[in-house]
Amino acid sequence: MKLETLARYPFLPESSAYLKQQGITLESLVSSAVYEPARHAGRRRVLEALAEGVIHERAVTGDVDCLVELLSYAVARIIVSCNADEHLIQRYALAEAVATENRLNGENLDFIIEMALFMGMDVRPDDGKASVHFADYLRHSSQMRANEWKLVNKDLDRGRVSVSGKDLARLLRHAVDDRIASELPLPVNDAIIESFRNSIDLVREEVERRKAKFEKETYGKVSFLRLPPCMKRLMGMMKKGENVPHVGRFALTSFLHTIGMSNDEIVAVFSSSPDFKEQLARYQIDHITGKSSGVEYLPPECATMKTQGICFDPDSLCRKKWLHHPLNYYRVKGKKREKPAGKKVVTSSDGQ
Ligand code: SF4
Repeated sequence: MKLETLARYPFLPESSAYLKQQGITLESLVSSAVYEPARHAGRRRVLEALAEGVIHERAVTGDVDCLVELLSYAVARIIVSCNADEHLIQRYALAEAVATENRLNGENLDFIIEMALFMGMDVRPDDGKASVHFADYLRHSSQMRANEWKLVNKDLDRGRVSVSGKDLARLLRHAVDDRIASELPLPVNDAIIESFRNSIDLVREEVERRKAKFEKETYGKVSFLRLPPCMKRLMGMMKKGENVPHVGRFALTSFLHTIGMSNDEIVAVFSSSPDFKEQLARYQIDHITGKSSGVEYLPPECATMKTQGICFDPDSLCRKKWLHHPLNYYRVKGKKREKPAGKKVVTSSDGQ
């Protein structure tokens, strides 16, 4: 595989084989002055993932640039591993996965199929489309709730599902997200941590800043009028006794907790669910809200909600470029309501 391809898709197993072949060791990557540009690019990769939820493609003009890009992926994984924060791991993995999907959408179908094969999917060309084994299709589409992804709405022939190149790229996004998230954190020793101390601290500060941004104190009194459409729909489904998928329950619980609802109040919201079992619901809610686990989970951001098929009924506020998170929607709606009459409503930032 060409170096340029590895630079664009650095998670492929061929990448580590290539680095070994070039004699690049972990020690040299961590400490050699030659690899300073790669260490810098790796830090940028993590910060970009945190800030923007995607890693933008750099223009590369030769083998040196390609190698820096390829190595920046290895460095980024080390920095993420040194921080070993679940929010960071999830955010980073998703950003790499979104970048992969974006790049694949510019490739031809044969290339996307080749990439799916590299990722271990049972896939083959089929009359201008791709044919995926139903088990792989189900595995990688399991979080997508939109009707178009349901197996009953797909062409199914002898256990294989026919998908377009674009759909295959979306399935690959999930495959890449899963793979990267499951591989992290990598084991890192004290020497590596010391070598990356500045980058680790910078990334940790950014992670803490993002978490602080969503602390419940900033949300004031709970107001259902300010709920984003996705959360309204999930609440409505609960109330109507419709079955809400696990990812929807997680999103709703973490969202309601973050805006200040008590665990008892959240249990009450869940009580209309057809499969409601109070003990189980309390166990799950206590875990997500940190009461039993010690870890408070933040609700997923819009990109994740979309991927999981639970971004329901987005409205004009949802379509603002800066609105990356359901909590931003809630906060901005609060600002609009609190604004004194006659004054301009500020919507040009991301609500921070
Ligand atoms: S865009 Fe975001 S806030 Fe709006 S409905 Fe979708 S997930 Fe919810």
